[in-house]
This record gives sequence, C-alpha cells and structure tokens, in this order.
Amino acid sequence: MLKENGFLKKLKLYNFMTLSVGEKFEKMKQIRDELLEFHTSPLYGYRIENKYFPVVGEGSHGARIMFVGEAPGENEAKTARPFTGKSGKLLDEMLESIKLNRSDVYITNIVKDRPPASREPSGEEVAAYVPFLDREIQTVEPKVIATLGKSAMNYVFTKMGLTAIITHIRDIHGKEFIGKGDYGAVAVIPLYHPAVGLTDEANKQMLVNDFQVLKKYV
Ligand code: URA
Repeated sequence: MLKENGFLKKLKLYNFMTLSVGEKFEKMKQIRDELLEFHTSPLYGYRIENKYFPVVGEGSHGARIMFVGEAPGENEAKTARPFTGKSGKLLDEMLESIKLNRSDVYITNIVKDRPPASREPSGEEVAAYVPFLDREIQTVEPKVIATLGKSAMNYVFTKMGLTAIITHIRDIHGKEFIGKGDYGAVAVIPLYHPAVGLTDEANKQMLVNDFQVLKKYV
C-alpha cells in the first residue's frame, strides 16, 4: 500500500479554493489593517490603555478545518496570536492527539480584542467584531468549523442557519451538524472551550474524545 507522506497529508488538509493564495493573503492583510484602526470598537480604549494588540486568526488560509474561540486573553493580547496561553497549550495537545498541528488548521476568535479581565464578551462586543470573523470564514472557506465554547457555538450556529439546534453545549458537544455557508455546506462541530480541561481530568478526556470527530477530515 502507498504510504501517505507529509506532502500528501498536507494536500488533503488543503481546501479546493475559489480564491488564489495571493487573494487570500490580501484579504487577511486587509482584515488585520482594519482591526488595527478599529477606533470605534467598544474595546479599543482598553487595548490602548494596556498596550495590547488586536488578535487576528492564524494558520493556513486554505485550511479545511477552522477553530473559533471566544476572545483573546492576556497572553494573546500581548503577543497578537490566538490561543497562546494555557488554553492554547491544551488546544495544541488536542490537535496533536489527531496528528495535526497549528499550521494545518486555522484558529481564530469571535472577538478580536481582550475584554477587561477576560470576562465573557458582551452582545455589543460580539456584534462589533463578527463582521471580521465572517470575512475570515469567507476567505478560508473551511469545510469544518469547530466552535470552542458557548459564545462561538451560539454565533457560528446562527450564522450557518442552525439556530434551531442551539441548546446547552452539554447536549451537543462532539456532534456534527451540516450548516450552510455563503460558499456551500459546512460541517459545524460544537466543542467545549479547552479551558474546561485545564483543571479537570475528566473534562480533558471528554475533549480528547470529542476531537476524534475531526479525524475524518484529516
Ligand atoms: N481563549 C479564547 O477563547 N481565545 C483565545 O485566543 C485564548 C483563550
């Protein structure tokens, strides 16, 4: 049997694209530039006071799998990179458990600036930032969106025409739902936020189990 090499694996993880690599790069650059100048954001003042950065997604612009978290924490706002703190370490472990690394996927958040003391983002904050997430989704065109936590689940399910499915995450985590993106069908998989696995071994095991659902897209 032909042994799958690294190149073939990367090719499988790459989407069939309607935009060229250059077009995707330009669109992402535009998003980053606009976020830097997003003076009307309800979180802009807090960003400047603390010398924080806005946090855009990172990873492959042609990824089949996109992860959407809630909002940057302090580490992320200082480094301008998503999931670089403790939750990010756990996310890396979960990715490794299905033989993926960050450069194989695209990782982002609904809200791109850190809310004060990392509290849950308000409705107003979510509303201000989701147009940027929508543009990231349109640019990457993922086949699968794995939501990390309640805020991401609520937004992405609504966006993908799956509002009727929304319920407590305990009842639907690790399951797969087919939604409708602007560019075609998208599998949406609600996962718990990695933070739940930081202090509770049973929760961590649950995350490991749920990540197995993503294996068929690897
Ligand atoms: N939690 C999130 O939801 N996103 C991050 O980037 C970091 C922690």
